[in-house]
Amino acid sequence: MRISYGRQSISDADVDAVVRVLRSDFLTQGPAVPAFEAAVASTVGARHAVACNSATSALHIACLALDVGPGDRVWTSPNSFVASANCARYCGAEVDFVDIDPLTYNISTEILSAKLEQADRDGRLPKVLIPVHFAGQSCDMAEIGRLAAQYGIRIIEDASHAIGGTCRDKAVGGCAYSDIVVFSFHPVKIVTTAEGGMAVTNDPDLARRLTDLRSHGITRDPARLQRSDEGAWYYEQQSLGFNYRLTDIQAALGVSQMERLAQWVPARNALAARYDAALGHLPLRLPHVATDVLSAFHLYVVQIGDAKVDRRTVFDALRQRGIGVNVHYIPIHLQPDYAALGFAPGQFPNAEAYYARAISLPMHVELSDDDFEFVVQSLEEILR
Ligand SMILES: *Cc1c(COP(=O)(O)O)cnc(C)c1O
Repeated sequence: MRISYGRQSISDADVDAVVRVLRSDFLTQGPAVPAFEAAVASTVGARHAVACNSATSALHIACLALDVGPGDRVWTSPNSFVASANCARYCGAEVDFVDIDPLTYNISTEILSAKLEQADRDGRLPKVLIPVHFAGQSCDMAEIGRLAAQYGIRIIEDASHAIGGTCRDKAVGGCAYSDIVVFSFHPVKIVTTAEGGMAVTNDPDLARRLTDLRSHGITRDPARLQRSDEGAWYYEQQSLGFNYRLTDIQAALGVSQMERLAQWVPARNALAARYDAALGHLPLRLPHVATDVLSAFHLYVVQIGDAKVDRRTVFDALRQRGIGVNVHYIPIHLQPDYAALGFAPGQFPNAEAYYARAISLPMHVELSDDDFEFVVQSLEEILR
């Protein structure tokens, strides 16, 4: 595809930052990872940050840190990448979904409220809810937080799309209504480390558990060792963890990228506004952003409206022209591996109806004016 739907923006400063690490003493477990964690924590207003080698691994250890295990239930959005649900299954928990709001494509708080009421009656409340800030637009976290408090549920925000976004002037990641917030740094996301993710929290105990789980469950903290006088080499594995560490090479890229986040979110919003203005006359449903939300605009999704052509035709025609459109998301419950767990079409009708009409248009900070015009002109021709 000549034009991609999303891609990284790499500056000379990014390249220099990575090369400096390559010439330094530490390729991993050096100073760049803590620097990246500090940069993200201060930007999003969280007290603690734990960098991981992907958002998927961050979601996994976030579930473990909240004691998700066999017999527990975890709910998330069907309109997400599979990782939002798989993290619970890694822990042996059962997954269920909350259907989406047809306007924002985030989980519907009305459906959530009704489903919680029913689950409470049935004695089947989830231990954890994982709301996903779809396309970069924050969910209504105040309402979700209120319901979570009412029913005693823990919250992990999957903010893979949403770094740099705000809700009621509060940065996504501040954990005001959640236990842990997770970001992704895959190259199609807003800030990249090639592969990478981060879990942020305001709870020092959760931060410690996340840090342990990221690195084999091992600690060297003298204050926590069970046997203290063994020698300077000594460490203890106190729980079963993983190697989910980010490298310093990646973290240096992340630090350098974070310096441009404050430019990128307005640039993405400006591109979204240009699409809004240019596509308003076409039979498309354009993104709806709630008035009190600043979307990070990871994705710009249109739904094919009452056009004479269907989504598949529009999609194929755009791809034919070298425009790398995509579809986000195939509802998770329709994946064969989820059908095998008993999920079936029709269970989450809003997510399914949305999926049938959705196309993600190119949305990234390096999209040229010519390419933007070409996308708009192509849509006009195809939908005419
Ligand atoms: C990309 C993404 C993930 C997984 O991120 P990785 O860093 O690739 O593991 C999880 N959830 C959502 C919503 C995503 O978009």
